[in-house]
Amino acid sequence: MTNSSTQPVGALIVAEHVFKSYPVGSSTVDILKDVSLTVSEGEVCAIMGPSGSGKSTMLYCLAGLEKPTSGEVALLGRSLTRSTRKQLAELRRSELGFVFQSYNLMPTLPVFENVALPFRLRGERVDRARIEEALSSVGLAGRGSSQPSSMSGGEQQRVAIARVLAQRPRIVFADEPTGALDSRAGRLVLSELRRIGGAPGQCVLIVTHDPAVAASCDRVVFMRDGRLVDQISSPTTESVASLLAALEARSEAVSEEAA
Ligand code: ADP
Ligand code: MG
Repeated sequence: MTNSSTQPVGALIVAEHVFKSYPVGSSTVDILKDVSLTVSEGEVCAIMGPSGSGKSTMLYCLAGLEKPTSGEVALLGRSLTRSTRKQLAELRRSELGFVFQSYNLMPTLPVFENVALPFRLRGERVDRARIEEALSSVGLAGRGSSQPSSMSGGEQQRVAIARVLAQRPRIVFADEPTGALDSRAGRLVLSELRRIGGAPGQCVLIVTHDPAVAASCDRVVFMRDGRLVDQISSPTTESVASLLAALEARSEAVSEEAA
């Protein structure tokens, strides 16, 4: 990919031949080994794979939070590799949202202020209506004055999603966002992410180890040992679980060989 005109129409995330290595002692360890992935407008795409297969590293490289060792990543037609630090920060601020397993809420601030925090940090006027709307869309209308510590994990994660929603991002990256939640709370969080991803001009990329979560996405890609090795469109819980089990068995076989 040399310019945006070579990208498929509607491709919001385009990663081509991404490699990522980390220095370990005097050598390096290769974590991502030639990963290419395109996520299109309106798509919710899940990444699955055995623990340690590189899912988080891939998400961070695609989100501009980590710099690939080589390869190209473009978001919304803009090359990350050729962006300045300032351009990256601006892209993150205006177009990208992040949801992590830990909710990253400020425990000393009430819910409303947690959702308003990105606006305040930028010195912008806080649009109260927009924040109330984001809270009500995750089922937390009227909870703005609650303290996060008084809420369940599922509610706290929905606050974190409201904070993302209030920013109106076009791409949301989520790393095991339902990992700490029971299945009902997880479903609520997921339906919010689906709503974001399904909207025109938007998409969601979500790392999950839960086959039920993956099955409710449009597509699931599978990683093993730093590579994308398979994908399923129109996934079901069963098809996802059996492919994941096969990958886990193979990755254990590999690590036993190595040992
Ligand atoms: P996953 O999310 O699939 O569990 P990760 O992307 O977190 O996997 O990690 C993949 C591999 O990369 C793991 O073996 C991990 O130990 C290693 N790794 C992750 N970050 C670093 C780092 N900063 N330095 C060295 N190794 C790392
Ligand atoms: Mg991870």
